[in-house]
Amino acid sequence: MDTIQKLKTEQVIAYFSMEIALLREIPTYSGGLGVLAGDTVRSAADLSLPFVAVTLLSRRGYFRQELTPDGQQVEHPVEWDVGKLLTPLPNSIQVEIEGRSVEVKAWVYHWKSVTGGVVPVIFLDTDTENNHPEDQAITHYLYGGDHKYRLKQEIILGIGGVRMLRSLGFNVRKYHINEGHAALLSLELLREVRDSEKEHFEKIWDIQKVKNLCVFTTHTPVEAGHDQFPYDLVHEVLGNPVPFPLLQELSGKDGLNMTRLALNLSGYVNGVAKRHSEVSRNMFPGYTIYSITNGVHSFQWTSPSFKQLFDKYIPGWAHEPELLTRVDVIPDSEVWEAHRTEKRRLLELVQQKTGQKMEENVLTIGFARRMTAYKRPHFIFCDIERLKKIRNRGKFQIIFAGKAHPNDYEGKNLIRQILSYAENLRAEIPVVFLEDYDLEIAKSLTSGVDIWLNTPQKPMEASGTSGMKAAHNGVLNFSILDGWWIEGCIEGITGWAIGPGVGKEISPEAQYQQEINDFYNKLEYIILPTYYQQTDWWIKLMKNSIGKIASYFNTHRMMKRYITEAYFHQPAVFSINNSLTSDKRG
Ligand SMILES: *Cc1c(COP(=O)(O)O)cnc(C)c1O
Repeated sequence: MDTIQKLKTEQVIAYFSMEIALLREIPTYSGGLGVLAGDTVRSAADLSLPFVAVTLLSRRGYFRQELTPDGQQVEHPVEWDVGKLLTPLPNSIQVEIEGRSVEVKAWVYHWKSVTGGVVPVIFLDTDTENNHPEDQAITHYLYGGDHKYRLKQEIILGIGGVRMLRSLGFNVRKYHINEGHAALLSLELLREVRDSEKEHFEKIWDIQKVKNLCVFTTHTPVEAGHDQFPYDLVHEVLGNPVPFPLLQELSGKDGLNMTRLALNLSGYVNGVAKRHSEVSRNMFPGYTIYSITNGVHSFQWTSPSFKQLFDKYIPGWAHEPELLTRVDVIPDSEVWEAHRTEKRRLLELVQQKTGQKMEENVLTIGFARRMTAYKRPHFIFCDIERLKKIRNRGKFQIIFAGKAHPNDYEGKNLIRQILSYAENLRAEIPVVFLEDYDLEIAKSLTSGVDIWLNTPQKPMEASGTSGMKAAHNGVLNFSILDGWWIEGCIEGITGWAIGPGVGKEISPEAQYQQEINDFYNKLEYIILPTYYQQTDWWIKLMKNSIGKIASYFNTHRMMKRYITEAYFHQPAVFSINNSLTSDKRG
């Protein structure tokens, strides 16, 4: 409570996100978006920023994943002890949903940094005895239910969140909308600004005032990925917070598009990698969309062995990850030893979870993230005969993990396919799938494998962050040139690219063919020989990953850019097109 009291005396940044991944024990996240939000909170606390985060309680979590022997994903609600981990707040506010008044309460978790900085994370909760059972369930399942359920959740997050911050007495400098889910907060601000102008005879919808308050980060590079709600549903569930013609003007003619709403009511908008911002500008012409490339929290994602090494040779690295450019001061042998320790740790986990014993001296490839079609987790298996041939030139083994959204039948099917490939390859190439991917498994995997693989369908990977975690641990990236990797990859120096770069206009078939060829050729002729015959060079590449990737792709750098460019942003008075601004123009 005293943190909240103290923050009331300052202007804070209020960060709204549907999911925030703080701890394995607080399972209110599903994937990359939540992990980014968690790392954002961690860096904000380290940097002692006046910062408060708002999210949903998700009392039943996302889900716990179980895989049956035939590869079916079974989803279980997560039971977690809310009362033990979070502190209840006495405040309660009301939000109108389907014409009913729904009570929203809140819990807080104070994320504490070793620097003394603290960020309160507010979890909104509708499971109170005053609410109708249907309304109690609104904050139960992250991304659960149907369209209507999602809209209700977004009302609680956006509108309920603003009201809760008011009730707690926060004075907000900027509202940061982390992905469209939270965009309704801008409508609430619009209404609030209008209602506060009591002395005016004619009240106005002061859009500029709201824009000055809102920062929007978009994460979705495809039209279909943006939340959109039919207006019939909006009227039924949300009512008419603003006159309908105005709502249509702000959020689209045919339905309430959350991204459009956020774009129209935010004074600063950014994508999460340079390429993603470019794609977003093409998708939404007429808007100024800047670019702040994502990062990961260096201390969170550096394994114990590498932490020890960095502490010894690069003191201060966790507070100033840019110091990691000095990685060459660490002796090669110690880098290799640290990696071997983490690899052993991972292989023990694999054995414990699957019963399968994997060999420490075999090249180990990792692939873990949400299991969904565009991520193409089965890419490595597209030519099984070729894969087996490569195996005869050098051993390798593969570790998978990842959850498919309960309604993503294609994603679930991909898990089944991977398990069936694993079965068929059993005698030649060990392949395992770890159940129930989460923060801790992500840590083990991104530090314990040798190669981190990412094979998304371009341009669907807005940024991707797991490869940055790998780089912090000297694990080499081997990925499609999309998202952050376009900025991170120096071929043969920081890792390897799969397929053509940006701007080479070729047909989708030709691109796919080139991706496949690149993948198998580089695995066979570059990666395996380097790993087995040129360990010195391999270690050089590991150091490059740390020195040239981890030093930059971290959330400390990212937060500093949000502070200087988004939170303290002033609309441009004039602009010139030169190398100072070209970054933002793409
Ligand atoms: C980092 C992380 C992700 C994001 O992985 P991408 O490869 O960037 O999609 C997803 N889930 C968990 C648990 C993570 O730690």
